[in-house]
Amino acid sequence: MSLRFPRRLATTTALGGLVLSLWGCQTTAPMVAQSIGPHDVACQVATPGNGAMARVRVAKGDSDSLSAESTAGACSTLQQVGEALQAQGSALGFEVIGPVRSQSEWNQVDNLAMRNAVLRQPEPDSVQVVITERITQCGASVGYILGCTPASGRPFVFIKQHNILQDWAPEWVIWAHELGHAVGLTHPDGANVEPARPKRIMTYAPNPQSVELATQEPEAFVQMSRFRSGGPVALTRAQSQQAAGAAVAAADVLKYVSRGGAHGVNLDPLAQLSDAQLLPLRQMLAPGARLSALLQGAQFSPSEVPALNQWLVASNDDAAWSSLVAQAAEEPARESAPPSSGGLDLSLKLKDLLNWSKRPQAPDLVAVMQSNAIAVMGDLGGAQTVDAVMQALSRQEAVLPLDARHLGVAALGRNLARTQTPALAAFLGAASVPQFWCPTQSKPDADCVALSNSARMALVQGRSLPTLNSR
Ligand SMILES: [Zn+2]
Repeated sequence: MSLRFPRRLATTTALGGLVLSLWGCQTTAPMVAQSIGPHDVACQVATPGNGAMARVRVAKGDSDSLSAESTAGACSTLQQVGEALQAQGSALGFEVIGPVRSQSEWNQVDNLAMRNAVLRQPEPDSVQVVITERITQCGASVGYILGCTPASGRPFVFIKQHNILQDWAPEWVIWAHELGHAVGLTHPDGANVEPARPKRIMTYAPNPQSVELATQEPEAFVQMSRFRSGGPVALTRAQSQQAAGAAVAAADVLKYVSRGGAHGVNLDPLAQLSDAQLLPLRQMLAPGARLSALLQGAQFSPSEVPALNQWLVASNDDAAWSSLVAQAAEEPARESAPPSSGGLDLSLKLKDLLNWSKRPQAPDLVAVMQSNAIAVMGDLGGAQTVDAVMQALSRQEAVLPLDARHLGVAALGRNLARTQTPALAAFLGAASVPQFWCPTQSKPDADCVALSNSARMALVQGRSLPTLNSR
């Protein structure tokens, strides 16, 4: 574990930031057993005085991009979770059983895949943590989703592979947040509104300062050890039934979609919008879309939105809105990295090693906003909006981020399930061929193959599963 937040270490005096910095500087890596069987203990971390241990099994997809997700990594993350919980009065440690298992079905998940996992073994004797490349849907929400607990009070947690630049909240915070849902905790603030409790682990929009537990939360976490005997620990409503908030006016659609939190964008407040009213989201998919243009187009005012969402909060801790917009106007392209001195630049190397330079940049925010926009458009759109999605996915130049393309394809599959539109089926059929995604390559690369697999899956599900509808 490296010094991931050196700036805060130096400047933050608030309790949350200080505690986080200490946790971030964890010095002892957990002991992880080697060559263990599926029922052996891989690690025991943050063992509390009372011995209350949550038992955890970890699975992941089998794609190359998930190859770095290891048993040791899961043990380390859970150690951070356990230490954070105990520092706040929750006496709980974690015991990981067996090695991380890889299965192709966990490369990308949606409501159906998560529901099937729960139904297959409704009362396991351990918390099931699944690390996936992408969560395309979580209850009524779509878009860029960090984690999903499909049934509140039950031990099934799905977590998107961590991307420090786009997710920004530390990995352990996301794990703790989802594990909180597994013991029935809900958000202390609303979905898709400016988070009212941003320092709480259970906030809808976690950021690096979201490290606090409050009220009954420490007690609730301790209940996780009771999953060892099977059965739910609490009778609470499912995450998908959480209040979605008021209907969104047509004029606010860009703002609403731009501000999705950890669980993406809830579609319910958008359900009454017409095809024409969703169409303005198209500008978020424009070739070379820049953050400044997206912010201007959304017409935010500083008083209305003090911070766009957790990413903007994180990247601009003390910046006023106007300077944020000004900064966005000067955003560098992701490709044009700062010129290297050519020789060995020790300070740059050191910065990289310590993650000093890993603060979200404008292109990271644009990638998240585009993921949210294309998922909403593809899922809810009528003829014009869906056409804009298909055009964006067909573009060869200035293509959308990989996540956005997968999320767009999955959304079109859900739209097909609802509408059975022939043009959608035809598009997904064409996109099921790897050459669609990289027509100039003689041998399509792994991304193109994965995208074609996504399209084929979306087509199959869209044709056969009318219940895939998010709403
Ligand atoms: Zn949540």
